[in-house]
Amino acid sequence: MELIATTAALSAIIAVRYLIVAAGLYRLLWSRGEPRLRATRLNTRAPTRPAILHELRASLVSSPIYALPAAVALQAFEHGRGLMYADPARYGLWWLPASALIYLVVQDTYYYWAHRAMHHRWAFAWTHRGHHLSREPTPFASFAFDAVEAAGTAWVLPALTFFVPIHWGVALTLLSLMTLSSLMNHCGFELWPQRWVRGPVGRWLITATHHSLHHTRFRCNYGLYSRAWDRWMDTDAMPVLPPEPAQVRARPAALETA
Ligand SMILES: [Zn+2]
Ligand SMILES: [Zn+2]
Repeated sequence: MELIATTAALSAIIAVRYLIVAAGLYRLLWSRGEPRLRATRLNTRAPTRPAILHELRASLVSSPIYALPAAVALQAFEHGRGLMYADPARYGLWWLPASALIYLVVQDTYYYWAHRAMHHRWAFAWTHRGHHLSREPTPFASFAFDAVEAAGTAWVLPALTFFVPIHWGVALTLLSLMTLSSLMNHCGFELWPQRWVRGPVGRWLITATHHSLHHTRFRCNYGLYSRAWDRWMDTDAMPVLPPEPAQVRARPAALETA
C-alpha cells in the first residue's frame, strides 16, 4: 500500500516537473518566433501540434513507469535498507563525486548498449519507435519513450542504490542532470557555442547537435551522456559545421558524417 502511494506521488512529481521544465524551455526557444536564448537552430521546421501532442502523451505514460523503481529505492532508504544514505561524511567526502562518476559511467554504458539493441530490426517497432516519431524533437520529447523502453531504462539508477552506496543528494543531482541533459539534447537548438561543441570537451560529450543527428539518421550516436562508446564502436557522427545562427534560421545546416 505504501509503495503504491509513493509511486503515485512520485509519478505526479515527475509528470508536473516534466511539464514545467519542457514548457518553459519550449517557450524560451520556440513560441515567439526568435528564440529568447542564444542558440543555433537545428530543426528544419517549427514543431507541429500533433508532434507535440504525441511527445506529451508518451511522456505522461513514461512518468509512472519511472516512478515505480524510484519508489522502491526511496522506500528502501526510508526503512534503512539499500545503500542510499543521509550523512555526507559516512563514506568520506571523496565518495560523493566518486559515486556520482560510477553511476554516470554505468548508466552511460548500459544506455549505449540498450539503445543499440532497441534499434535492432526485431526490437525497434515495439521498444523505441515512439521516441523516433519525433524526427525533429522539441523539449517535450525529452521524456517521450515507449513503455518498453521506459521500463528497460528506469530501473538502472534505482537498482544501483542497492549495490553502490550513494548519498540521497547525489542521487537527486544525477536525476536533475539526466532531466537537464535530455531537455537540452531534444530542444531542437544547440545552446552551447559551436567552438565548445567541437572543442576537446565537446568531442567527448553528447550535445543537441550530436543527438539530433541520431533522430534523423537512426544508425549513429546512441550515447546518453558521453560520446565515448560511440567513438570506440565507430558509431559516432557529427553534422558539418553549421553556418552562423542568423543564416541557420533561414537555411538549416546540412548533415554529414564527420
Ligand atoms: Zn532522443
Ligand atoms: Zn534511437
